[in-house]
Amino acid sequence: MDSIQKNLKRIKNEVGDNVLVVAVSKTKSINLIKKAYETGHRDFGENKIQEMTSKFNDLPKDINWHMIGHIQTNKVKYLAPYVSLIHSLDSLKLAKEINKQAIKNNRIIECLIQYRISNEETKFGLNQNEVMDIINLQDNFGGLRITGLMGMASFVDDQNVIDKEFKKLKTLFDKIKLSNKKFKIISMGMTLDYNLAIKNGSNMIRIGSKIFGERDV
Ligand SMILES: *Cc1c(COP(=O)(O)O)cnc(C)c1O
Repeated sequence: MDSIQKNLKRIKNEVGDNVLVVAVSKTKSINLIKKAYETGHRDFGENKIQEMTSKFNDLPKDINWHMIGHIQTNKVKYLAPYVSLIHSLDSLKLAKEINKQAIKNNRIIECLIQYRISNEETKFGLNQNEVMDIINLQDNFGGLRITGLMGMASFVDDQNVIDKEFKKLKTLFDKIKLSNKKFKIISMGMTLDYNLAIKNGSNMIRIGSKIFGERDV
């Protein structure tokens, strides 16, 4: 078996059926994605709309495409016809545009709100009040279904810092879930921290390098 296929199977066995593995294929070629696809895997994540759309066009149509990167409002129209789950809803303006494009395409687009759990300045995401603002306005967006939260922990070695950040996301998730029956997805955990994420309640992990190997860009 090919190494991508081995890596993917090993991770899926390790995390079990209750955690969905999104194979993050950004920068990786169509042929490498096909290797993973051949194992029966159908969930792939990309962080650039143009790249994802060209891969969508070139690959089988039963793939579930996950948008995990920051989205520019003027590009929503390109992914609206086919995207399976947006992990990176990070502004009211973006929610409005996704809603508009979803309705145009006769779809309801499933989204996670990106919650900023790290103190690192470069990370996108909303603070707790901003997350709640979108939650409280969601009934105005018939084209959107908000089903959970996504977060990225700080890029540090200190496991205690990462653990605290994941707990912060889980706490807000549990709070929102009390009055939102649709809330079910906790997208947290990447190659270096997915074990800790799952310990803290994650049920969706986004794994790139551990499946496809290091990225050179
Ligand atoms: C690239 C990326 C990942 C995957 O990162 P790895 O460390 O390679 O597993 C996960 N989430 C987001 C938002 C990413 O941009």
